[in-house]
Parts: sequence; structure tokens; C-alpha cells
Amino acid sequence: MEFFDAAEAWNRDHIQHVQVTRLRSTIAQARKCDFYRKRLDEAGITPESIRSVDDIQRIPFTTKQDLRDQYPMGLLTVPTRDIIRMHCSSGTTGTPVAICHTANDIKAWANLMARCMYMVGVRKEDVFQNMSGYGLFTGGLGIHYGAERLGCMTIPAGAGNTLRQIKLAMDFHTTVAHILPSYALIVGERLREMGQDPRELPLRIALVGAEPYTVEFRRRIEELFDMKVYNSYGLSEMNGPGVGFECTEQNGLHIWEDAYIPEIVDPETGKPVPDGEVGELVMTSLCRQGMPILRYRTRDLTRFIPGTCACGRLHRRMDRIVGRADDMFIVKGVNIYPMQIEQVIMTFKEVGQNYLIQLENDGLGDVLRVKVEIREEFFVEDMRKLRDIQSRIARRLRDEILVTPTIELVESNTLPLAEGKAVRVKDLRNPH
Ligand code: AMP
Ligand code: ZN
Repeated sequence: MEFFDAAEAWNRDHIQHVQVTRLRSTIAQARKCDFYRKRLDEAGITPESIRSVDDIQRIPFTTKQDLRDQYPMGLLTVPTRDIIRMHCSSGTTGTPVAICHTANDIKAWANLMARCMYMVGVRKEDVFQNMSGYGLFTGGLGIHYGAERLGCMTIPAGAGNTLRQIKLAMDFHTTVAHILPSYALIVGERLREMGQDPRELPLRIALVGAEPYTVEFRRRIEELFDMKVYNSYGLSEMNGPGVGFECTEQNGLHIWEDAYIPEIVDPETGKPVPDGEVGELVMTSLCRQGMPILRYRTRDLTRFIPGTCACGRLHRRMDRIVGRADDMFIVKGVNIYPMQIEQVIMTFKEVGQNYLIQLENDGLGDVLRVKVEIREEFFVEDMRKLRDIQSRIARRLRDEILVTPTIELVESNTLPLAEGKAVRVKDLRNPH
């Protein structure tokens, strides 16, 4: 097998050996800022006190609130003049979280990203179009630098402006794209409306991530464009994209354990969950100079996939993200994640590219309204057929989530589109 980086071929012993060494140096580096020095002193953690990877469990967690409290640069561990870039996480409310990178950090990040792309077959000869937002969002420059590192002709198209997006892809024969799942279906639909077959584009691979999406959603994108879609996971706090990525097996995302230590913990107790069980992903950076982060509570829910991957890489795999702990909503006392709903509705061939979950209160109690766009060709069907679709979706959803939803069928392209990550849930129950 061809690897981009020798670390891809490491065995478990070697991975763990390197992790211990790098965890020690990360702790030494982290102690250069007041916040971590105090935290680590309180917990009695010195670099020498780390003897095995499991010793990481003695280190206190870092939360999003900690990062907010240290905004803008409280966690810097190098002089500011050594910082060459900063990014923010995509939260829309409250104090942002800012992450600063040294030249080495940026280089290491680009290498990780290039490694991901190479793993799924992207090569120098490819034309790469980045259809995600640039600016503070790490899916812009983060992916861009990885593609350039591979030597691809890289088109920084940015998000939106679908017509220009399509023109660029056609004129420059784009073979690989990075795109948010919600936007991928929209581009495909737009092409169809223009009388073009999306399958005729030279696109062969898409890196798709930045927000949760289901296997059913992936299948749709793959079929629409006749290309392979690989799940790309990352978060600004751990650089951004390049943290976890699917290999060509498409069965879980390898987390690059030479650069990170991943853990999965019970969100309530903070204790590790048994192998294979779903919990909250906790991440530690191992290769960051400017702003190392220890045991970051990502709020993302996933599980380690037991066993080894057929591709031969021994870096552990995580399953696709079920959702963020924050995305969960409660209707009639039942906990529901948006992805449970997506998983069901996207199996209906009549369903178009967009949907919205709206939580309401009708005076008697919670109402779970799911607005579903219906494909043009089905929307013209007679009333009876539409009713039938409606009740089939409602039934299947009730079986999955145990709450009977109100299904509202709407025309294609009528639901609101987000500029960046899709907003899947609107809670209208407690208007402020
Ligand atoms: P940001 O704040 O922009 O860095 O966004 C990071 C967050 O985006 C992660 O913590 C996840 O919640 C979400 N995310 C990123 N990639 C994926 C993915 N492939 N699947 C599901 N969620 C993702
Ligand atoms: Zn693999």
C-alpha cells in the first residue's frame, strides 16, 4: 500500500510509544501558559509523571468554557511574534474560541490534511475545488493547504454562488471537491434544474464533513454525482480538518494517533466507556507548539470501531458522529438527535435535498414538525399520493424515535439554506 506518511504504517506499540513521548513534551509545552501550569500543578502532573498513554486520564479535562475564558490568547505557549495564523471555531453565540498557530503548526496540519487526501486517492494530477467557506472557518484554509501540499491545482472557490461553482468545475475539470453535505445536494439539484446531469462532471472524489450527516445522505451524494464521498472530521480546537478521515474502506474514520490522543468518555461521569460504546470524544493535541490543548471535551458523540481496518492502518477508527451532545432535543420526554430523523427521511426516494425539524407547542404539548422538501417530479402527483408519502414517512419515523411527528411536505428549494453549516433544528417552544 502507498502511504503519504510513514506514520500511517506504524504498529500499535510504536504508536503508543510515540504518544507517550509526545504527551510528555506537550505537557511541558502547555505548562508555559498560566492556565495549564496551574491546572497541571493542582493535579500533580509533570511530564515525568506520564508513564503510559493511560496516564492521560489523570489530566483534568479542558472544556469549551475554559477556552472561552482564555480568549483571545490566554493559552499561548510561544511569544506572539511566533504566531502566523489564527482561526476561530464556528460557534455563533457568545465569546468565540480562538486558536493560534505557529509556522510549524501550520506545516504539520497541512501534512495531516494531505495525508487524509492521499489516503483516498487524491494525487498531484487532480484539480481540487474547495467549495466551503474560507475566513475564520478552518474548512477553508485548512483543507486548502493540504491540497496544495499534495500539489493539486487548488481552486479556492469558497461557499455559495452555485452557478459560479458549477462553471469553475466545468471549465477547470475539477476532479476532487471539498463540500459540506447540505450544500452538495443543492449543487446537484441546481445542475439538474439547468438540464445538466451531475454525473457528467469530471468529479470523482468529494471530501464531505464539517457537520453530521448519515450514511443515507452520503449515498445520495455519491449517486447524484457518481463519485466517492469520504467523511472528513475535525474541529478548530484540534486545528480543524485532518483529525479523522475515512479510508477507502468507508467504514469509520481513522484518527491520526501520532498527532492526537483520542478518548471516548461517558459525558456524565467523564470515565472511559467500554470499547465500542458511544460516548463523548475527548481529544489531546500532540504536535502543537503555539496552543496545545489537553483532553478537550468535544461534545461530539461517537464510538471507537473495534477491530482492525482492512486497509491495514492501525490508527484507531471512530464511527461517524451521531450528533453533538448539544444537538439533542427532548420532545414529549424522548431524547432525539437530528441524525435519527435524517437517517429515516433520506431513504425515501421522493424526498428532496433539504429538511427542517421544527419544535412547537400547540398549547397541549410538544409538536415535532418535520418539514421535508419533495422532489419536483413527485410534488405534481395527486393529493392522495402526497398523503400516502406523508403517512409513510410519519410511520417510519415513529418506529425510529417513538414520537409521532407531523410531516409537512414542501416544494423543492423552499426551506432556508445556511451559508455555512446547516441549521437542522428550530425550537419555537420557548420564544424569548
Ligand atoms: P468548528 O467549530 O467549525 O471547528 O466545528 C467543529 C465541529 O463540527 C465538530 O466538533 C463537530 O461537531 C462538527 N463536525 C466536523 N466534522 C464533522 C463530521 N465529519 N461529522 C459530524 N460532525 C462534524
Ligand atoms: Zn482503513
